[in-house]
Amino acid sequence: MIERLSSKSEVRAAVAAARRDGKRVGFVPTMGALHAGHLSLVQAACARTDIVVASIFVNPTQFGPGEDFDAYPRRIEADIELLAADGVEIAFTPSAAEMYGDGAAVTVEPGPLASRWEGEVRPGHFTGVATVVTKLLSVVRPDIAFFGEKDYQQLQIVKRVVADLDLGCQVVGCPTVRDEDGLALSSRNAYLTAEERHLALALPAALEAAEQAAAWGERSADVLVALMRDTVAERAGGALALDYAAVVDPETLEPLERVDHRARALIAGRLGSTRLIDNCSITVTDREPNGA
Ligand code: AMP
Repeated sequence: MIERLSSKSEVRAAVAAARRDGKRVGFVPTMGALHAGHLSLVQAACARTDIVVASIFVNPTQFGPGEDFDAYPRRIEADIELLAADGVEIAFTPSAAEMYGDGAAVTVEPGPLASRWEGEVRPGHFTGVATVVTKLLSVVRPDIAFFGEKDYQQLQIVKRVVADLDLGCQVVGCPTVRDEDGLALSSRNAYLTAEERHLALALPAALEAAEQAAAWGERSADVLVALMRDTVAERAGGALALDYAAVVDPETLEPLERVDHRARALIAGRLGSTRLIDNCSITVTDREPNGA
């Protein structure tokens, strides 16, 4: 049976009771409009902990002016049913007033990891994310919190916030869940027209081109980035406005010149008014380019 709780004190009490029974607590924070990507985090949490808390909160402070806070899909009743079916015991559904009271003067600045990529395109976004995640972790106090690799920069930032502020929980990253055609599942995919949905496949295609080239021995990050940009131009032309395509160090997120070990390819762009982001891991082999 799932319990829907909207106040921080109720959640604290319910988690404390579970802990007294010796249970390990898992936590999956979300903004709702749940899809199989979110549910994969829930399943990972159920597999590794004894009681799972999932939050549904469309956090206003991580949306900038002119972004889609008002339009963001909200279907809380259907979400709760999905969470219940997958074994979540506690759904935490606070209001903005419950989360922030009369406003909050103190925020969490996530530091250099937030300066590039999404942080540059969406000023203030990661301060909002770091602050709300810190607050949610302080309320729930999980043993393990689960985040998606889909939001790769967010995952790295959350790991850093938890380490630097000694929040005392483990952060587990879960692989990106994709539709059959390769498009990463996202609540924002609901905004896409059928034509845009097709053009959006340029993003995973670009990542795959970079991944393949690296697997065949290409080590120049510039070449891999050019390949990503060319793939997007070929597949979507001017309809997909790229915000960035990058090959970065998987921990620092700084751009690389050469890919000598592991790297991460990041890509983001806009189709009409919809912003989409994606990423994948890049591994080089010892082969030289062109099979030499
Ligand atoms: P959101 O509701 O978009 O804030 O996402 C909540 C959590 O689900 C975040 O940790 C996301 O990274 C994760 N997530 C979103 N989409 C996916 C996906 N396609 N695969 C895996 N995790 C995802």
